[in-house]
Amino acid sequence: SIEVRNLSKSFVDGHMAVRGVSFELGEGEMTAFLGPSGGGKTTILRMIAGLEKPSGGEIYISGQRVDHLPPQERKIGVVFQNYALFKHMNVFENVAFGLRVQKQRPDVIQARVRELLRRVDLQGLEGRFPDQLSGGQRQRVALARALANEPRLLLLDEPFSAVDAQLRKELRSWVRKLQQDLHITSIFVTHDQQEALEIADRVVVFRQGQLEQIGTPEEIYDSPDTPFVAAFVGEVN
Ligand code: ATP
Repeated sequence: SIEVRNLSKSFVDGHMAVRGVSFELGEGEMTAFLGPSGGGKTTILRMIAGLEKPSGGEIYISGQRVDHLPPQERKIGVVFQNYALFKHMNVFENVAFGLRVQKQRPDVIQARVRELLRRVDLQGLEGRFPDQLSGGQRQRVALARALANEPRLLLLDEPFSAVDAQLRKELRSWVRKLQQDLHITSIFVTHDQQEALEIADRVVVFRQGQLEQIGTPEEIYDSPDTPFVAAFVGEVN
């Protein structure tokens, strides 16, 4: 599980991007962070991933305080929109990258990469390079790469915002299936209310750095706590 207590972040310019946010997410659950641009979703995710230092508060993963750990010791897999595949490496090597850094045995790497590529239905494409893949295939390689080190947490920040609606839907069900099959605790950042309601066990709505509401998709949709949540979730894209 993941627990965030009174987390805040102000940037050097004094802007408070995150203001005293607390929540707890269940083991094996998929949570969507939903809210308009500038709400602080990405900043919170980056703090959990270790890419940004909190100004205040604490982050616990499975009871262990992680906000003082360097990113590589947190055991977190990330798929960020701007975190591209390595262009000079083929599919196999892209997925194997983190395992090689960890100096895993070649037979362990071989088995793990094959299993992941099978799970994202990319077996047979091991030798292809990123520019020889479709957009959807590339995103599935990125997903497999994020899962290679058996992370205890998977973070996805608007991973499919650059692809069209049909493909986005398809990728969404891939993520959901993998997440459920592997029972991996995950956070999916989106500003798309429909996407959040469809993919998640639980939704957290953020606005201007504050947590507006946390609940199941049904609770958020049927009983919004604030006029803001009602208006934002009720909006149709
Ligand atoms: P989006 O959906 O657009 O990514 P978001 O909800 O993820 O929005 P954040 O990216 O977390 O929001 O940004 C929250 C606020 O913090 C914004 O007002 C943003 O301008 C500000 N911010 C983010 N990064 C920095 C930075 N490095 N320096 C100063 N301000 C920043």
